[in-house]
Amino acid sequence: MNLIPQDCLGSILEITPQYLKERGLGGVILDIDNTLTGHNVPLPTPDVMALLSEYRAAGVKTCVVSNNRRPRVAAFCEKTGIHDFVWDAFKPAANGYVKAAEIMGLPPERTAAAGDQIFTDVWGARRAGCYAVLLKPIHRGGEGAFIAFKRLLEKPILLYLKLKGMIK
Ligand SMILES: [Mg+2]
Repeated sequence: MNLIPQDCLGSILEITPQYLKERGLGGVILDIDNTLTGHNVPLPTPDVMALLSEYRAAGVKTCVVSNNRRPRVAAFCEKTGIHDFVWDAFKPAANGYVKAAEIMGLPPERTAAAGDQIFTDVWGARRAGCYAVLLKPIHRGGEGAFIAFKRLLEKPILLYLKLKGMIK
């Protein structure tokens, strides 16, 4: 089922180099808003910045895949030292994820794809064959009507994930 992630975690900080290694994953495809930083907040917190340097030190590949426009994505990646990114990805389309895996030189199944939205990040990642990790959104404020609508649709799936014990 393409809407069910392989794993559910509280935050990106739980996707450590060790976590990836244990699952045979060589890279992480990253969502920006509410995954690495708050919605439309320009920079992530110091602990997320530290995780990104841990990735670099451990040889973990990274690529941002965002539905946001190029200026926001490029500026964010420059400030955070993330070299590769795909903008206007039209998630839940699979293309952005496939492209990101290609850029990282990995087959999609050897990449983790981290995001906070089921109908955007998980769906797109699963269609591309990535290892989808659903994260709790950093901060739900200011998300706008379309995301609020998708959050409503997420409710029964989140309930299912809770009942299955995937969300603690
Ligand atoms: Mg997001």
